[in-house]
Amino acid sequence: MKKKLVLIGGGHSHIQVLKAFGQIKSDEFQVTLISDVALASYSGMLPGFMAGVYEKSELHFDLKKICDRYGFEFIESKVIKISQKLNQVWLANNQILSFDVASIDIGIEPQKINTQHQQIIELKPISKLIDKWEKILNTEVTKISIIGGGAAAFEVAIACQQKMQCQVQILTSPNGLLKSMNSKTQRLANQRLKKLRIQVRSESVISEIPLIKENEVYLVATSARAPDLFKNSDLPTTQDGFVKVEDTLLVEGCENIYATGDCCQIKGYKLPKAGVFAVRQGPVLIHNLLSTKQRSYKPQQIFLSLLVSGNKRAILSYGSLSFEGRLFWYLKNWIDRSFIRKFS
Ligand SMILES: Cc1cc2nc3c(=O)[nH]c(=O)nc-3n(C[C@H](O)[C@H](O)[C@H](O)COP(=O)(O)OP(=O)(O)OC[C@H]3O[C@@H](n4cnc5c(N)ncnc54)[C@H](O)[C@@H]3O)c2cc1C
Repeated sequence: MKKKLVLIGGGHSHIQVLKAFGQIKSDEFQVTLISDVALASYSGMLPGFMAGVYEKSELHFDLKKICDRYGFEFIESKVIKISQKLNQVWLANNQILSFDVASIDIGIEPQKINTQHQQIIELKPISKLIDKWEKILNTEVTKISIIGGGAAAFEVAIACQQKMQCQVQILTSPNGLLKSMNSKTQRLANQRLKKLRIQVRSESVISEIPLIKENEVYLVATSARAPDLFKNSDLPTTQDGFVKVEDTLLVEGCENIYATGDCCQIKGYKLPKAGVFAVRQGPVLIHNLLSTKQRSYKPQQIFLSLLVSGNKRAILSYGSLSFEGRLFWYLKNWIDRSFIRKFS
């Protein structure tokens, strides 16, 4: 009897598991991938898509196609509950699936803005944002406000300015912009924003937008919130709701459930929510799924960030180093396209 391996979410680690297991042609596992979308978006290229540099078709992993290629089962549905006690997952389509081994790679959700309004659009899930962005492109918009202070807010603001030619502003908390990055990166980023006439307002933490004018759009790029799935499950979580894992990526106290990427917190580390970590966790997850001898994941102390800064330019930030220019955009473009190509 083959072991039932259920992969929950088509994030940056699982996409690697699919390819590796498909190439190994392991007789040990019967693989099922459950994802709420059949086309998983690659966030690194999202600002480029919004700016009109990439086509929509270029920023997706076709999860269904990958599963079909390797003979894996693909289920398009949202997982709403996981039980470690029963070794089962509940799906939004009313299915209940049993597993021998499960792995979770479902990313995050943005902090909510209280006001429900169609002109307030969250960056995640990216698939929904893409559809809404295509509608915005056909509407008359006079002002776009991006709420958030991280790399995504910076890149998306620039993309909006390049594509829409309207007034663009970033609304951040009093902490300001790119606070997790070095001071030179912050300076270079602010210089670029000034040059592109994008205003940064760091007045207060925005949790509500009371008045929305016609022709105005708000894009929500706030910090990460844990997925609601963990509230309904019996897995150990941190105070802020992220699933707790050992450095082997096994969920604490479990011997058959793994979690990777933004949705988990690894014992002893507080990692930024960035795709680079989910990517590096992929090979460790693959090894640990296939072997009884579990390997530890050791995150890199400093990691490379490439922030698109407009007009095919980018800021490279690595530890205390920071540079801005065209070369770095070409580097980012090459890294992103190579990653996508590996799985297409
Ligand atoms: C605009 C933007 C630009 C960014 N640029 C970069 C960058 O250049 N470099 C970088 O390192 N990071 C970047 N990030 C951060 C990066 O997107 C995340 O850190 C990364 O995607 C996390 O990967 P993951 O594998 O944890 O999850 P994700 O990539 O978010 O994948 C999770 C998948 O699971 C699916 N899913 C979610 N919930 C469920 C559920 N309940 N059931 C089934 N399926 C589910 C989702 O649809 C999604 O396909 C950017 C983020 C944004 C918003």
